Amino acid sequence: MGRPYILNPIEKAPRKEIEELQLKRLKHTVRWAYERVPMYKRKLDEAGVSPDDIRSLDDVRKLPFTYKDDLRQTYPYGAFAVPLSEVVEIHASSGTTGKPTVVGYTKKDLDNWSELMARSFAAAGVTKEDIVYIALGYHWFTGGLGFHYGAQRLGALAVPAGTGFTKRHVQMIKDLGATVLGAVPNYALRLAEVALEMGVDPAKDTKVRTGVFGAEMWSEELRKRINELWDMDSYDIYGMSELYGPGTAMECHHHDGLHVWEDHYLIEVVDPKTGEPLEPEEEGVLVVTPLTHEAFPLLRYWTNDLTFIYDARSCDCGRTMRRIARIKGRADDMLIINGVNVFPSVVEEVLLSHPLVGNQYQIIVEKEGELDRMYVVVESKRRLTEQEKEALAKELEENLREALIIRPRVRVVDPGEIPRVEGGKAKRVIDKRPKT
Ligand SMILES: [Zn+2]
Repeated sequence: MGRPYILNPIEKAPRKEIEELQLKRLKHTVRWAYERVPMYKRKLDEAGVSPDDIRSLDDVRKLPFTYKDDLRQTYPYGAFAVPLSEVVEIHASSGTTGKPTVVGYTKKDLDNWSELMARSFAAAGVTKEDIVYIALGYHWFTGGLGFHYGAQRLGALAVPAGTGFTKRHVQMIKDLGATVLGAVPNYALRLAEVALEMGVDPAKDTKVRTGVFGAEMWSEELRKRINELWDMDSYDIYGMSELYGPGTAMECHHHDGLHVWEDHYLIEVVDPKTGEPLEPEEEGVLVVTPLTHEAFPLLRYWTNDLTFIYDARSCDCGRTMRRIARIKGRADDMLIINGVNVFPSVVEEVLLSHPLVGNQYQIIVEKEGELDRMYVVVESKRRLTEQEKEALAKELEENLREALIIRPRVRVVDPGEIPRVEGGKAKRVIDKRPKT
């Protein structure tokens, strides 16, 4: 195999070359945003910073952060830097609270995005010989079209499957001879589950051997299970609609962190409380400044995603673009249970590492008097007797206590009892506590 599938020589350019390009593009971007978007002019003026103050990459720290809330206030087109006649596509991120964020793309933006997605696919070993089955939303969500553009740029066959109709997907994946699956990880799991119910073994009866998954947190344990079910090698891809969509960072075949496409994105990791920059290997919030966005520039966008930047500057794949760790979760995914911080990703890791545990679980948090109560409902892999269920629940409670410090109550239920989501992101956490 012709690994490591580097599509663009810039991916393995000397650091100096990458950083010079970044600085040139950063200067341009700051001026572009300042002169064209009133919000950025106001924010920079208030901070007493002018585009001329950007003389080195570190000078990015002089700029104020841009938050999701800033983008809500400019809904729908107020943060666009070009007239609508130059915009050829829009997407919108789902707003669970308040208004969605509308993101615009010029022709050049779509061209860049396609290139970054093609690079990402190439990093997963995808070639023009592949049939890429895209079981991702094609509507407002950026997943479907982002994968689509990237697969086509590479010359692969893109199947615009979308979500829902899970049984039909299983049939088509098999009949079309799809070799690559793009989905959110929990839907890859669901597809395998439905396939097995239909008597189709994804590992033996389909040609899918590569998965490219993103848009939600998935632990290494979940990855192992998906890889096993499909007999595939699955890759984590990172992005969000504000940053074009998927394709900001991507794993290479070493599966050790995600390479950030640094010629298009300048990254920082900062302390979630103070906003101060952190050292490599220190975990904090990822802050991203896109360096080439025309329609929708962003300055120091606060992603709210928790990660760290690898200290090592090179990777055995040959790429020199820096790596970030797989996203641990969003800062606001963190549950505070009686004063203790709990990450759902840690709960998943503990549960799925047990061989008797199935693939579905839910975390429920309630208020009982003054105290928070956390319950975990988890499916067993096969039907168990009541006694076996109780023993498993006890064991999981103990394992969770070791990992979390607190001891949640665990209830084991039969396979199939937890409701499934057909295509969207899984609803793993139900927080019933009154919002303060
Ligand atoms: Zn690599």
